[in-house]
Amino acid sequence: MKNLSVAGDGTKIKTFASSYGKKICSCEGPCNHPRIFSDRDARWGWDSFHERWVYGYGIHALVEVKSELPLILPKLTGANTHDGVVGVNLIREAIRWATG
Ligand SMILES: [Zn+2]
Repeated sequence: MKNLSVAGDGTKIKTFASSYGKKICSCEGPCNHPRIFSDRDARWGWDSFHERWVYGYGIHALVEVKSELPLILPKLTGANTHDGVVGVNLIREAIRWATG
């Protein structure tokens, strides 16, 4: 445990659902009829690595530096959640796990 080096990182995952929903009527142009939203937990978020907006999810993980293996189960959030927000909870969870 003394030589344990931990790093935290996250990545964005795009959903294939549309943030505008899917049309269920047969109107040709734009209309105000109800639409189906098939992925209601997905959110818009900024992918700072690829420098683009992503509609979907964020996966956040703590890994052991040498092996790059996850220390605890990664957390799934909406893409609008910053790594720093989840990081605090991941660190707290890892300490709880390591100290029993
Ligand atoms: Zn319509």
